[in-house]
Amino acid sequence: MKEDILHNLEIINDRIRKACEKAGRPLDEVRLLLATKTVSAEHIKTALENGQTLIAENRVQELKEKYDELKDTQHENHFIGHLQTNKIKDILKYDVVCVQSLDRLDLTERLHQRLVSEGKTMEVLIQVNTSAEESKFGVHPNEAVELTRKVSEFSTLKIKGLMTIGLFSAETEKVRPCFKILKNLQQEIISQNIPNVEMKELSMGMSGDLETAIEEGATIVRVGTAVFGARVHPDSFYWNERV
Ligand SMILES: *Cc1c(COP(=O)(O)O)cnc(C)c1O
Repeated sequence: MKEDILHNLEIINDRIRKACEKAGRPLDEVRLLLATKTVSAEHIKTALENGQTLIAENRVQELKEKYDELKDTQHENHFIGHLQTNKIKDILKYDVVCVQSLDRLDLTERLHQRLVSEGKTMEVLIQVNTSAEESKFGVHPNEAVELTRKVSEFSTLKIKGLMTIGLFSAETEKVRPCFKILKNLQQEIISQNIPNVEMKELSMGMSGDLETAIEEGATIVRVGTAVFGARVHPDSFYWNERV
């Protein structure tokens, strides 16, 4: 398994390098984020000890379970799942530095309250539902600018950009329009010059479509299966949860 992970990381980094070359973008503009849902702490550690620095969970429960085993290995933790307000305190406790899935105002308010009471700040990305699929979370593209504006008013939250999951399709050309929507929203928000808003990050692209995402401007690609192997549960299990 260890050899598989190292080999897969080489392949992924190679794919990222080629995609950057093709798109005429500098390699250091794109970061690889490892989506570690269902992956054991041991396997995550293998990746962290071999050049990887950025990981993310979808569920607070998994974040909690792996925390002790990973806390002494240097890394940066993001959160990419649907976040319930009653789990916010755990997000802070387990050292998440960026919530990529901020998609609504009540979550924003509660996150802010908690951050104020702990004297902390948090990086966030606004998650946009670019595929119009019922099953996915994220703010509707038409409401993304407005939500960004509202979130920007909370002093504890540092908006760094946008995130999307994109259409779940094996045909990357069908996913491309989703990435374009995110890029266009980024440009629109930049043009509005909203105080307290940075629009540097575009978190988009996964195992199957990272090349397309990089062509369309991704700065963070989120990869799970292509590094750690197939998961038992389908993605809908993670993307629909209301638990
Ligand atoms: C699982 C997951 C990924 C990675 O998906 P793979 O197809 O395994 O690469 C990316 N983003 C989110 C939000 C995920 O839940």
